[in-house]
Amino acid sequence: MKVSVDFDQCEANGICAGIAPDVFELDDEDMLHVAEGEVAPDQESQVAEAVAQCPKAALRLL
Ligand code: SF4
Repeated sequence: MKVSVDFDQCEANGICAGIAPDVFELDDEDMLHVAEGEVAPDQESQVAEAVAQCPKAALRLL
């Protein structure tokens, strides 16, 4: 699976990065970066949790 971010919705609060830090990262300018490509199998449950917890519903599983 893959995950995408709607940057029009994301408010860069870092909740996803707290849940799945290997996949989501906030840089020094509060810009969210997402690991490219397929989510590693051992990261899938954390990514799904991040999608569920995003308060802006900015994350989508593909
Ligand atoms: S949890 Fe949602 S709003 Fe917060 S940084 Fe991640 S994608 Fe953006």
